[in-house]
Amino acid sequence: MIIGLNDKIYSYDRLVSDAKKLAKQYETILKYVTIGKSHDNRDIVLLKLGLGQQYMICCGGVHARETINPPVLLKIIEYYADLYSNHKQQKLNLKKKLKAPTINLAAEYEQMLYGTCIYELLQTFTILFVPLLNPDGYMISLNGFETIQNQQLKDKCLSMKISKDEWKFNARGVDLNRNFPSLLWKPKNDQDHAASENESNALISLFNEYKSKGFLDFHSRGKSIYYYRSIMPDSYNSKQLEIAKRLQIITNYELVLPENEIDSGDSGGNTVHYYSENFNKPALTIETVDEIADFPLDYKYRYSTFEELKLVIFEFGSMII
Ligand SMILES: [Zn+2]
Repeated sequence: MIIGLNDKIYSYDRLVSDAKKLAKQYETILKYVTIGKSHDNRDIVLLKLGLGQQYMICCGGVHARETINPPVLLKIIEYYADLYSNHKQQKLNLKKKLKAPTINLAAEYEQMLYGTCIYELLQTFTILFVPLLNPDGYMISLNGFETIQNQQLKDKCLSMKISKDEWKFNARGVDLNRNFPSLLWKPKNDQDHAASENESNALISLFNEYKSKGFLDFHSRGKSIYYYRSIMPDSYNSKQLEIAKRLQIITNYELVLPENEIDSGDSGGNTVHYYSENFNKPALTIETVDEIADFPLDYKYRYSTFEELKLVIFEFGSMII
């Protein structure tokens, strides 16, 4: 096992080295590449999992202080890769055991079936994981503004007078989830431009490079699912609702009502809006972690979030083929 969820602080450097180790261990189905650099010069990692000709995209760590999902996404990659790699052997073992059934047979059979599902998922899809779109912000939230190497950027961040625990932005103080050039995007001030940030452009390029079937963006908090897009036709929204309802059943997360799609006064420009409008394929924002959780988020949320998201990604894949 490479990814441990027990260490309180899971740094960006650790994420990169673990991602490389995973790609080495599961080299037949997992590729490590980078899709750009953050403004403070950190690589933005992309892990390509699977052998399928179809693509789906999963993103995490857009907002700095939402520190649970990036290590959880890596853990899911390891979990899926492991199931995939051991699936044939597991099937053989189970066949042998059928001649001398043991008490655990039902549980093992169930696990084998789950393995079969993941095996088929990764034969159909290559899942493009961007576990941490905003590595600079993530490090600010974990360890403070000293982690920013570029003095100019550090000064800019400090001038905003927002605590590291509440930090949502990248190292230029921009909220990346208000930086995508969607139709409802509005500038917040004279200097504000859509797609001004390296990190947003890395994701936009990825969207354009792969003709994907769907996109999930994982945020925190609220245990809720955003699916409704007022700008999209009814046919698009009914498919979104169908997916959201299935994900609701397996996670117990709430569906966000259409009228709460965007808060009043919000400047728009979310990842999912951009994706929906430009590619006309399903795109949902999934908010993990209890609404009442305080920042910094307790690392123990990783365990339950892992259980929830491993089902979400699989279920989403099965619905967008
Ligand atoms: Zn967020």
